[in-house]
Amino acid sequence: MDTETEGKAAAVEEMREWCVALPKVELHAHLNGSVRNSTLLELAKHLGDKGVIVFEDVKDVIMKSDRSLPECFKLFDLFHILTTDHDTVTRIAKEVVEDFAAENVVYLEIRTTPKNNEAKGMTKRSYMDAVIKGLKAVEDVDVELFGSNFRTNETLSSKLLDGVTKKKKIYVRLLLSIDRRETTSAALDTVNLAVEMMDQGVIGIDLSGNPVVGECICNVLCRETYLPALQHAKNMGIPVTIHCGEVANRKEIQAVLDFCPQRLGHVCCLNDVEWKKLKSLMIPVEICLTSNVMTGGAPSLELHHFADLYNAKHPLSLCTDDSGLFSTSLSNEYYLVATTFGLSKFELFQLAQDAVQFVFADDVVKKSLKEVFKHAEKRLLMWDELAAPS
Ligand code: 5GP
Repeated sequence: MDTETEGKAAAVEEMREWCVALPKVELHAHLNGSVRNSTLLELAKHLGDKGVIVFEDVKDVIMKSDRSLPECFKLFDLFHILTTDHDTVTRIAKEVVEDFAAENVVYLEIRTTPKNNEAKGMTKRSYMDAVIKGLKAVEDVDVELFGSNFRTNETLSSKLLDGVTKKKKIYVRLLLSIDRRETTSAALDTVNLAVEMMDQGVIGIDLSGNPVVGECICNVLCRETYLPALQHAKNMGIPVTIHCGEVANRKEIQAVLDFCPQRLGHVCCLNDVEWKKLKSLMIPVEICLTSNVMTGGAPSLELHHFADLYNAKHPLSLCTDDSGLFSTSLSNEYYLVATTFGLSKFELFQLAQDAVQFVFADDVVKKSLKEVFKHAEKRLLMWDELAAPS
């Protein structure tokens, strides 16, 4: 390697390290989309041995890295076969939190679709109890699920701070997802479950699922619509986030903007009028760069709508969507923004810090998170000087 190539490789390495060290807020992560490949393979092997699936076929599907939107949803059906029992749900919830904490995510909202599965004796409630059991089982990291006693000086990667490894802390909150395949009454059950579990870390509702199936949200006259459930959440004071514009469904995008949820996911296929409306409403957007490019919602990283929203100072937050499925991490999403759009370390820090404003958790948590960033600021913004040889 010549000196120039070596210098470039070192700069890439240094920037990646910085993005990992940056405290981050993750607002759009689907539980079953964030499972480690190694865990999926292990589960698939187990079911293969039992003759439930053909392991060799499934293995190739899990390891494939480029996926279209329809392929992703086929894969979710497979994941749901692999992760149906309570113990597995507990295991994946634990591992997902560990993986985000390893990336210095200090606040994580995990969303998941509560599932009924009679064959396994699973109800939506017992599914969520299994998720919470997983969060409580995390040992390497302190997980704050209900309280606000977040001690800021222990939240960062302390190893980078002073050479001593201390236990990290992470706030975890849960959003219950309504799958677009569900009926009105099933969607209402999910919102009622969220109400029931508000004191157990559940703080919001999400509408997701394959955007080319299910009733359009705008079809209020149709009995199979999600609007009653979303409205019920709103009436109960539960914040709502909706997947919006993953495909160019004009009526639906319009209806989602009219509903005016607290946050929106993706917003890929908006036309000029819809962009204008989104910007005037100032609804914070959960930006999922890798996911959007891989599933065709954005033509490329360079042409991703992040740049337009960022330049317009629209509220936004970088997210992973499905870190397992798309082989990404939140640190990598920040790195991609730096390298694609040329944001400086200062701008990346601001971007990460600004996301605190859009969390669904209460003001006490927000205040603690602000302290985390304040504590990290000097070290991260003086990184280059600190790293320079004396
Ligand atoms: P789970 O809710 O089972 O924990 O996570 C997987 C589910 O999240 C999928 O079945 C799907 O309903 C939803 N999901 C994950 N990624 C996406 C995405 O990019 N777009 C949409 N619309 N839904 C998604």
